[in-house]
Amino acid sequence: MATKKDRYSGYFSKQETMTAAERRRYLNKKLKQIVAYAYDQAPAFRKKMDRARAKPPDLTTVKDLERLAITEKTDLIGMQKKSPPFGGWNGVPAEALRRIFVSPGPIYEPGEMHYDDTRWAQGLFAGGFRAGDIAQVTFSYHLVPFAFMLDESLKLLGCRTVPSGVGNTELQIQTLKDLKVTGFLGTPSFLHTILQRAKELGLNPKKDLNLKTAFVAAEMLPESLRDSIESELGIIIRQSYGTADIGCLGYECLEKNGMHFPDDAIVEIVDPQTGKQLGPGEVGEVVGTCFNKVYPLIRFGTGDLSYYSDEPCPCGRTTPRLIKIVGRVDQVTKVKGMFIHPGQVDAVAAKFPEICACQVVVTREGHQDRMTFRAELIGPAGNPDLLKADLQKTIQDILRLRGEVQFLNRGSLPKGAKKIDDKRVWE
Ligand SMILES: [Zn+2]
Repeated sequence: MATKKDRYSGYFSKQETMTAAERRRYLNKKLKQIVAYAYDQAPAFRKKMDRARAKPPDLTTVKDLERLAITEKTDLIGMQKKSPPFGGWNGVPAEALRRIFVSPGPIYEPGEMHYDDTRWAQGLFAGGFRAGDIAQVTFSYHLVPFAFMLDESLKLLGCRTVPSGVGNTELQIQTLKDLKVTGFLGTPSFLHTILQRAKELGLNPKKDLNLKTAFVAAEMLPESLRDSIESELGIIIRQSYGTADIGCLGYECLEKNGMHFPDDAIVEIVDPQTGKQLGPGEVGEVVGTCFNKVYPLIRFGTGDLSYYSDEPCPCGRTTPRLIKIVGRVDQVTKVKGMFIHPGQVDAVAAKFPEICACQVVVTREGHQDRMTFRAELIGPAGNPDLLKADLQKTIQDILRLRGEVQFLNRGSLPKGAKKIDDKRVWE
Protein backbone atom coordinates (compact mmCIF):
# COMPACT_ATOMS: atom_id res chain seq x y z
CA MET A 1 0.00 0.00 0.00
CA ALA A 2 1.23 3.47 -0.88
CA THR A 3 2.43 5.55 2.01
CA LYS A 4 1.28 9.10 2.42
CA LYS A 5 4.63 10.29 1.10
CA ASP A 6 4.38 8.14 -2.06
CA ARG A 7 1.08 9.72 -2.92
CA TYR A 8 2.66 13.15 -2.90
CA SER A 9 5.62 12.52 -5.17
CA GLY A 10 6.61 11.37 -8.63
CA TYR A 11 5.01 11.40 -12.05
CA PHE A 12 3.03 8.84 -14.01
CA SER A 13 5.45 9.31 -16.89
CA LYS A 14 8.63 11.30 -17.29
CA GLN A 15 7.12 12.98 -20.35
CA GLU A 16 5.27 15.19 -17.91
CA THR A 17 8.45 17.21 -17.32
CA MET A 18 9.47 17.73 -20.97
CA THR A 19 10.79 21.18 -21.82
CA ALA A 20 8.56 23.47 -23.84
CA ALA A 21 10.63 22.84 -26.98
CA GLU A 22 10.49 19.06 -26.49
CA ARG A 23 6.75 19.23 -25.94
CA ARG A 24 6.25 21.30 -29.07
CA ARG A 25 8.17 18.72 -31.10
CA TYR A 26 6.32 15.86 -29.45
CA LEU A 27 2.86 17.31 -30.09
CA ASN A 28 3.69 18.27 -33.66
CA LYS A 29 4.90 14.73 -34.33
CA LYS A 30 1.77 13.17 -32.80
CA LEU A 31 -0.42 15.62 -34.73
CA LYS A 32 1.19 14.71 -38.05
CA GLN A 33 0.68 11.01 -37.30
CA ILE A 34 -2.99 11.27 -36.36
CA VAL A 35 -3.78 13.65 -39.23
CA ALA A 36 -2.25 11.25 -41.77
CA TYR A 37 -4.06 8.30 -40.18
CA ALA A 38 -7.47 9.95 -39.84
CA TYR A 39 -7.29 11.42 -43.35
CA ASP A 40 -7.01 7.87 -44.69
CA GLN A 41 -9.35 6.11 -42.29
CA ALA A 42 -12.03 8.51 -41.05
CA PRO A 43 -14.17 9.93 -43.89
CA ALA A 44 -15.55 12.73 -41.68
CA PHE A 45 -12.06 14.03 -41.06
CA ARG A 46 -11.16 13.84 -44.73
CA LYS A 47 -14.23 15.96 -45.53
CA LYS A 48 -13.24 18.48 -42.87
CA MET A 49 -9.78 18.73 -44.48
CA ASP A 50 -11.30 19.08 -47.94
CA ARG A 51 -13.46 21.96 -46.77
CA ALA A 52 -10.31 23.67 -45.46
CA ARG A 53 -8.57 22.84 -48.78
CA ALA A 54 -5.89 21.13 -46.75
CA LYS A 55 -3.92 17.93 -47.22
CA PRO A 56 -2.03 16.16 -44.42
CA PRO A 57 1.33 17.82 -45.28
CA ASP A 58 -0.35 21.19 -44.59
CA LEU A 59 -0.90 20.32 -40.93
CA THR A 60 2.48 19.93 -39.32
CA THR A 61 2.23 22.16 -36.24
CA VAL A 62 -0.33 22.90 -33.55
CA LYS A 63 -0.69 26.40 -35.00
CA ASP A 64 -1.76 24.89 -38.35
CA LEU A 65 -4.88 23.53 -36.66
CA GLU A 66 -6.33 27.03 -37.01
CA ARG A 67 -7.00 26.17 -40.64
CA LEU A 68 -9.62 23.62 -39.62
CA ALA A 69 -13.18 24.29 -38.53
CA ILE A 70 -14.18 23.31 -35.01
CA THR A 71 -16.47 20.28 -34.82
CA GLU A 72 -19.04 20.78 -32.06
CA LYS A 73 -21.09 18.13 -30.29
CA THR A 74 -24.20 19.33 -32.08
CA ASP A 75 -22.41 18.81 -35.41
CA LEU A 76 -21.76 15.20 -34.43
CA ILE A 77 -25.48 14.57 -33.99
CA GLY A 78 -26.18 15.80 -37.53
CA MET A 79 -23.24 13.88 -39.01
CA GLN A 80 -24.35 10.67 -37.30
CA LYS A 81 -27.87 11.03 -38.68
CA LYS A 82 -26.46 11.37 -42.18
CA SER A 83 -23.87 8.66 -41.84
CA PRO A 84 -24.75 6.26 -39.02
CA PRO A 85 -23.66 5.21 -36.54
CA PHE A 86 -20.51 7.33 -36.01
CA GLY A 87 -20.84 10.04 -38.66
CA GLY A 88 -17.63 8.87 -40.30
CA TRP A 89 -15.46 9.69 -37.28
CA ASN A 90 -14.48 6.12 -36.43
CA GLY A 91 -10.93 5.38 -37.46
CA VAL A 92 -11.39 1.58 -37.40
CA PRO A 93 -14.20 -0.54 -38.86
CA ALA A 94 -17.20 -1.03 -36.57
CA GLU A 95 -16.39 -4.77 -36.34
CA ALA A 96 -13.11 -3.98 -34.61
CA LEU A 97 -14.77 -2.23 -31.65
CA ARG A 98 -15.24 -3.58 -28.19
CA ARG A 99 -18.16 -1.41 -27.12
CA ILE A 100 -20.52 1.16 -28.54
CA PHE A 101 -21.43 3.89 -26.07
CA VAL A 102 -24.55 6.01 -26.14
CA SER A 103 -24.11 9.56 -24.88
CA PRO A 104 -26.93 12.08 -24.54
CA GLY A 105 -28.02 13.34 -27.94
CA PRO A 106 -28.01 10.43 -28.67
CA ILE A 107 -24.43 10.35 -29.83
CA TYR A 108 -22.92 6.94 -30.54
CA GLU A 109 -19.30 6.56 -29.55
CA PRO A 110 -16.85 3.88 -30.59
CA GLY A 111 -15.14 2.08 -27.70
CA GLU A 112 -11.74 0.58 -28.44
CA MET A 113 -10.78 -3.07 -28.09
CA HIS A 114 -7.59 -2.25 -26.18
CA TYR A 115 -7.64 0.84 -24.02
CA ASP A 116 -4.18 2.37 -23.89
CA ASP A 117 -4.98 6.06 -23.46
CA THR A 118 -2.91 7.20 -20.49
CA ARG A 119 -4.44 10.65 -19.99
CA TRP A 120 -6.88 9.80 -17.17
CA ALA A 121 -4.23 7.56 -15.59
CA GLN A 122 -1.87 10.54 -15.54
CA GLY A 123 -4.55 12.57 -13.80
CA LEU A 124 -5.30 9.83 -11.29
CA PHE A 125 -1.60 9.53 -10.45
CA ALA A 126 -1.27 13.30 -10.05
CA GLY A 127 -4.24 13.13 -7.66
CA GLY A 128 -2.50 10.58 -5.44
CA PHE A 129 -3.76 7.24 -6.80
CA ARG A 130 -1.10 4.55 -6.70
CA ALA A 131 -0.69 0.87 -7.61
CA GLY A 132 -2.42 -1.30 -5.03
CA ASP A 133 -5.28 1.10 -4.39
CA ILE A 134 -8.83 -0.18 -4.28
CA ALA A 135 -10.87 2.33 -6.20
CA GLN A 136 -14.64 2.63 -6.06
CA VAL A 137 -15.97 4.05 -9.34
CA THR A 138 -19.33 5.70 -8.74
CA PHE A 139 -19.75 7.14 -12.22
CA SER A 140 -22.33 5.45 -14.43
CA TYR A 141 -21.32 2.25 -16.21
CA HIS A 142 -24.58 2.51 -18.08
CA LEU A 143 -24.54 3.64 -21.75
CA VAL A 144 -21.85 6.33 -21.37
CA PRO A 145 -18.09 5.77 -21.58
CA PHE A 146 -16.67 7.71 -18.65
CA ALA A 147 -16.71 4.99 -15.98
CA PHE A 148 -15.12 2.55 -18.43
CA MET A 149 -12.39 5.03 -19.30
CA LEU A 150 -11.59 5.41 -15.61
CA ASP A 151 -11.87 1.70 -14.92
CA GLU A 152 -9.38 0.94 -17.70
CA SER A 153 -7.11 3.75 -16.54
CA LEU A 154 -7.08 2.37 -13.00
CA LYS A 155 -5.96 -0.95 -14.49
CA LEU A 156 -3.08 0.87 -16.22
CA LEU A 157 -2.10 2.21 -12.80
CA GLY A 158 -2.29 -1.19 -11.11
CA CYS A 159 -5.39 -0.47 -9.02
CA ARG A 160 -8.35 -2.77 -8.42
CA THR A 161 -11.81 -1.33 -8.97
CA VAL A 162 -15.17 -1.66 -7.31
CA PRO A 163 -17.50 -0.81 -10.23
CA SER A 164 -20.32 0.45 -8.08
CA GLY A 165 -21.91 2.94 -10.49
CA VAL A 166 -24.28 5.66 -9.35
CA GLY A 167 -26.80 5.66 -6.51
CA ASN A 168 -27.30 3.08 -3.73
CA THR A 169 -25.71 5.38 -1.18
CA GLU A 170 -25.89 2.94 1.72
CA LEU A 171 -24.46 0.05 -0.27
CA GLN A 172 -21.68 2.37 -1.42
CA ILE A 173 -20.87 3.17 2.21
CA GLN A 174 -20.88 -0.50 3.13
CA THR A 175 -18.46 -1.43 0.33
CA LEU A 176 -16.21 1.54 1.11
CA LYS A 177 -16.02 0.22 4.66
CA ASP A 178 -15.95 -3.56 4.13
CA LEU A 179 -13.45 -3.52 1.27
CA LYS A 180 -11.28 -0.81 2.86
CA VAL A 181 -11.55 1.21 -0.33
CA THR A 182 -8.71 3.74 -0.61
CA GLY A 183 -9.80 5.75 -3.66
CA PHE A 184 -13.16 7.30 -4.55
CA LEU A 185 -14.16 8.33 -8.07
CA GLY A 186 -17.36 10.26 -8.62
CA THR A 187 -18.98 13.65 -8.58
CA PRO A 188 -18.13 16.01 -5.70
CA SER A 189 -21.79 16.19 -4.73
CA PHE A 190 -22.07 12.39 -4.48
CA LEU A 191 -18.98 12.23 -2.30
CA HIS A 192 -20.61 14.83 -0.07
CA THR A 193 -23.87 12.83 0.04
CA ILE A 194 -22.01 9.64 0.96
CA LEU A 195 -20.17 11.31 3.82
CA GLN A 196 -23.31 12.96 5.18
CA ARG A 197 -25.20 9.66 5.06
CA ALA A 198 -22.29 7.81 6.68
CA LYS A 199 -22.44 10.22 9.59
CA GLU A 200 -26.21 9.83 9.89
CA LEU A 201 -25.63 6.09 10.11
CA GLY A 202 -23.39 6.69 13.09
CA LEU A 203 -20.06 6.22 11.32
CA ASN A 204 -17.00 8.35 11.79
CA PRO A 205 -15.87 8.61 8.13
CA LYS A 206 -12.28 9.42 9.03
CA LYS A 207 -11.93 6.45 11.39
CA ASP A 208 -14.32 3.93 9.89
CA LEU A 209 -13.40 4.43 6.23
CA ASN A 210 -9.96 3.95 4.74
CA LEU A 211 -10.22 6.61 2.03
CA LYS A 212 -6.96 8.30 1.03
CA THR A 213 -7.83 10.10 -2.17
CA ALA A 214 -10.77 11.12 -4.33
CA PHE A 215 -10.88 11.90 -8.03
CA VAL A 216 -13.89 14.00 -8.92
CA ALA A 217 -15.25 15.18 -12.25
CA ALA A 218 -18.39 16.07 -14.21
CA GLU A 219 -19.34 18.94 -11.90
CA MET A 220 -17.77 22.10 -10.60
CA LEU A 221 -15.87 21.48 -7.36
CA PRO A 222 -16.52 24.37 -4.98
CA GLU A 223 -13.36 25.13 -2.99
CA SER A 224 -15.43 25.34 0.21
CA LEU A 225 -16.64 21.75 -0.32
CA ARG A 226 -13.13 20.53 -1.12
CA ASP A 227 -11.68 22.25 1.95
CA SER A 228 -14.29 20.87 4.30
CA ILE A 229 -14.00 17.25 3.06
CA GLU A 230 -10.20 17.35 2.81
CA SER A 231 -9.82 18.61 6.33
CA GLU A 232 -12.55 16.44 7.79
CA LEU A 233 -11.23 13.21 6.28
CA GLY A 234 -7.59 14.09 5.82
CA ILE A 235 -7.73 12.91 2.18
CA ILE A 236 -6.66 14.32 -1.18
CA ILE A 237 -9.42 15.53 -3.52
CA ARG A 238 -8.47 16.43 -7.04
CA GLN A 239 -10.60 17.26 -10.05
CA SER A 240 -10.26 16.67 -13.73
CA TYR A 241 -11.85 17.86 -16.90
CA GLY A 242 -12.79 16.24 -20.16
CA THR A 243 -15.69 15.05 -22.25
CA ALA A 244 -17.10 11.63 -23.06
CA ASP A 245 -16.13 12.10 -26.68
CA ILE A 246 -12.57 13.21 -26.46
CA GLY A 247 -11.47 12.03 -23.01
CA CYS A 248 -9.27 13.85 -20.54
CA LEU A 249 -8.22 17.43 -21.31
CA GLY A 250 -7.09 18.50 -17.85
CA TYR A 251 -6.27 17.25 -14.38
CA GLU A 252 -5.17 18.85 -11.15
CA CYS A 253 -1.89 18.10 -9.47
CA LEU A 254 -1.41 18.48 -5.73
CA GLU A 255 -0.75 22.21 -6.09
CA LYS A 256 -4.46 22.89 -6.76
CA ASN A 257 -3.65 25.67 -9.20
CA GLY A 258 -5.48 24.62 -12.34
CA MET A 259 -5.76 21.50 -14.49
CA HIS A 260 -2.67 20.39 -16.39
CA PHE A 261 -3.17 19.53 -20.03
CA PRO A 262 -2.45 15.80 -20.38
CA ASP A 263 0.53 14.93 -22.57
CA ASP A 264 -1.34 13.02 -25.24
CA ALA A 265 -3.78 15.65 -26.39
CA ILE A 266 -3.64 19.09 -27.92
CA VAL A 267 -5.69 21.58 -25.95
CA GLU A 268 -6.41 24.92 -27.60
CA ILE A 269 -8.27 27.90 -26.17
CA VAL A 270 -9.97 29.40 -29.16
CA ASP A 271 -11.98 32.47 -30.07
CA PRO A 272 -15.33 30.77 -30.80
CA GLN A 273 -16.11 33.24 -33.57
CA THR A 274 -12.87 33.20 -35.53
CA GLY A 275 -11.35 29.86 -34.53
CA LYS A 276 -8.04 31.59 -33.78
CA GLN A 277 -5.94 30.36 -30.86
CA LEU A 278 -5.85 32.63 -27.80
CA GLY A 279 -3.00 33.24 -25.39
CA PRO A 280 -2.64 32.73 -21.62
CA GLY A 281 -5.36 34.40 -19.57
CA GLU A 282 -7.72 34.95 -22.50
CA VAL A 283 -11.15 33.34 -22.21
CA GLY A 284 -12.20 31.15 -25.11
CA GLU A 285 -13.62 27.77 -26.05
CA VAL A 286 -11.73 24.65 -24.97
CA VAL A 287 -10.98 22.73 -28.17
CA GLY A 288 -9.32 19.34 -28.04
CA THR A 289 -7.46 17.08 -30.44
CA CYS A 290 -6.72 13.55 -29.31
CA PHE A 291 -4.47 10.93 -30.84
CA ASN A 292 -6.95 8.07 -30.54
CA LYS A 293 -6.96 6.06 -33.78
CA VAL A 294 -10.31 4.49 -32.92
CA TYR A 295 -12.03 7.87 -32.54
CA PRO A 296 -9.71 10.53 -33.98
CA LEU A 297 -11.50 13.72 -33.02
CA ILE A 298 -9.39 16.53 -34.38
CA ARG A 299 -10.34 20.08 -33.38
CA PHE A 300 -13.35 19.05 -31.32
CA GLY A 301 -15.14 21.87 -29.51
CA THR A 302 -16.25 21.14 -25.97
CA GLY A 303 -18.58 24.14 -25.78
CA ASP A 304 -16.91 25.03 -22.47
CA LEU A 305 -15.12 28.31 -21.86
CA SER A 306 -11.88 28.51 -19.97
CA TYR A 307 -8.48 30.17 -19.92
CA TYR A 308 -5.03 28.81 -19.31
CA SER A 309 -1.74 29.67 -17.67
CA ASP A 310 1.70 28.63 -18.84
CA GLU A 311 3.46 29.87 -15.70
CA PRO A 312 5.66 27.09 -14.28
CA CYS A 313 3.89 24.82 -11.77
CA PRO A 314 5.79 23.94 -8.57
CA CYS A 315 4.90 20.25 -9.11
CA GLY A 316 7.40 20.14 -11.98
CA ARG A 317 4.91 19.17 -14.68
CA THR A 318 5.50 21.41 -17.65
CA THR A 319 2.14 21.38 -19.44
CA PRO A 320 0.02 24.53 -19.29
CA ARG A 321 -3.01 24.48 -17.01
CA LEU A 322 -6.68 25.24 -17.53
CA ILE A 323 -7.33 27.60 -14.66
CA LYS A 324 -11.07 27.35 -14.43
CA ILE A 325 -14.09 26.44 -16.51
CA VAL A 326 -16.00 29.71 -16.58
CA GLY A 327 -19.11 28.70 -18.49
CA ARG A 328 -20.55 27.68 -21.83
CA VAL A 329 -19.88 29.18 -25.24
CA ASP A 330 -23.57 29.77 -25.90
CA GLN A 331 -23.77 32.15 -22.92
CA VAL A 332 -20.93 34.47 -23.86
CA THR A 333 -21.16 38.06 -24.93
CA LYS A 334 -18.35 39.83 -26.70
CA VAL A 335 -17.60 43.32 -25.41
CA LYS A 336 -14.81 45.47 -26.85
CA GLY A 337 -13.47 42.34 -28.49
CA MET A 338 -13.33 40.33 -25.22
CA PHE A 339 -15.65 37.52 -24.26
CA ILE A 340 -17.46 37.92 -21.00
CA HIS A 341 -19.49 35.24 -19.31
CA PRO A 342 -22.09 35.24 -16.49
CA GLY A 343 -19.69 33.16 -14.36
CA GLN A 344 -17.09 35.94 -14.50
CA VAL A 345 -19.67 38.53 -13.47
CA ASP A 346 -20.53 36.42 -10.42
CA ALA A 347 -16.83 35.96 -9.71
CA VAL A 348 -16.45 39.74 -9.40
CA ALA A 349 -19.40 40.01 -7.02
CA ALA A 350 -18.15 37.08 -4.93
CA LYS A 351 -15.14 39.15 -3.90
CA PHE A 352 -17.37 41.74 -2.23
CA PRO A 353 -19.49 40.74 0.77
CA GLU A 354 -21.29 44.10 0.42
CA ILE A 355 -22.87 42.96 -2.89
CA CYS A 356 -26.01 40.82 -2.80
CA ALA A 357 -26.88 40.79 -6.52
CA CYS A 358 -25.33 42.07 -9.71
CA GLN A 359 -25.75 42.47 -13.42
CA VAL A 360 -23.65 43.68 -16.32
CA VAL A 361 -25.32 45.90 -18.89
CA VAL A 362 -23.70 46.33 -22.28
CA THR A 363 -24.62 49.33 -24.37
CA ARG A 364 -23.19 51.08 -27.38
CA GLU A 365 -22.41 54.76 -27.61
CA GLY A 366 -20.72 56.41 -30.58
CA HIS A 367 -19.81 52.99 -32.01
CA GLN A 368 -18.06 52.05 -28.78
CA ASP A 369 -19.12 49.30 -26.42
CA ARG A 370 -19.81 50.39 -22.86
CA MET A 371 -20.05 48.03 -19.95
CA THR A 372 -21.78 48.92 -16.70
CA PHE A 373 -21.50 46.72 -13.65
CA ARG A 374 -24.66 47.16 -11.58
CA ALA A 375 -24.15 46.11 -7.98
CA GLU A 376 -27.00 45.74 -5.56
CA LEU A 377 -25.71 46.51 -2.06
CA ILE A 378 -26.82 44.87 1.18
CA GLY A 379 -26.85 48.26 2.88
CA PRO A 380 -25.48 51.77 2.35
CA ALA A 381 -21.77 51.64 1.51
CA GLY A 382 -19.45 53.01 4.19
CA ASN A 383 -17.13 54.56 1.66
CA PRO A 384 -18.77 54.44 -1.79
CA ASP A 385 -15.80 55.95 -3.63
CA LEU A 386 -13.40 53.40 -2.22
CA LEU A 387 -15.78 50.53 -2.94
CA LYS A 388 -16.25 51.79 -6.49
CA ALA A 389 -12.51 51.96 -7.05
CA ASP A 390 -12.01 48.43 -5.65
CA LEU A 391 -14.80 47.10 -7.80
CA GLN A 392 -13.40 48.73 -10.92
CA LYS A 393 -10.04 47.15 -10.26
CA THR A 394 -11.60 43.71 -9.73
CA ILE A 395 -13.68 44.07 -12.90
CA GLN A 396 -10.51 44.87 -14.81
CA ASP A 397 -8.73 41.86 -13.26
CA ILE A 398 -11.47 39.31 -13.88
CA LEU A 399 -13.26 40.56 -17.00
CA ARG A 400 -10.15 42.18 -18.47
CA LEU A 401 -12.26 45.17 -19.44
CA ARG A 402 -12.85 48.59 -18.01
CA GLY A 403 -16.39 49.05 -16.72
CA GLU A 404 -18.53 51.70 -15.09
CA VAL A 405 -19.93 50.89 -11.67
CA GLN A 406 -23.46 51.66 -10.63
CA PHE A 407 -24.75 51.00 -7.10
CA LEU A 408 -28.35 49.91 -6.65
CA ASN A 409 -30.47 49.57 -3.55
CA ARG A 410 -31.25 46.11 -2.33
CA GLY A 411 -34.10 44.50 -4.30
CA SER A 412 -33.73 46.73 -7.38
CA LEU A 413 -32.83 43.96 -9.79
CA PRO A 414 -35.85 41.91 -10.80
CA LYS A 415 -35.73 38.21 -9.98
CA GLY A 416 -34.43 36.25 -12.95
CA ALA A 417 -32.82 39.33 -14.49
CA LYS A 418 -30.22 38.42 -17.12
CA LYS A 419 -26.71 38.34 -15.68
CA ILE A 420 -25.42 40.03 -18.84
CA ASP A 421 -28.01 42.29 -20.40
CA ASP A 422 -26.85 43.11 -23.91
CA LYS A 423 -28.78 46.22 -24.94
CA ARG A 424 -26.72 46.94 -28.04
CA VAL A 425 -28.65 47.45 -31.23
CA TRP A 426 -26.80 46.68 -34.44
CA GLU A 427 -28.13 48.82 -37.24
ZN1 LIG B 1 1.26 21.05 -11.21
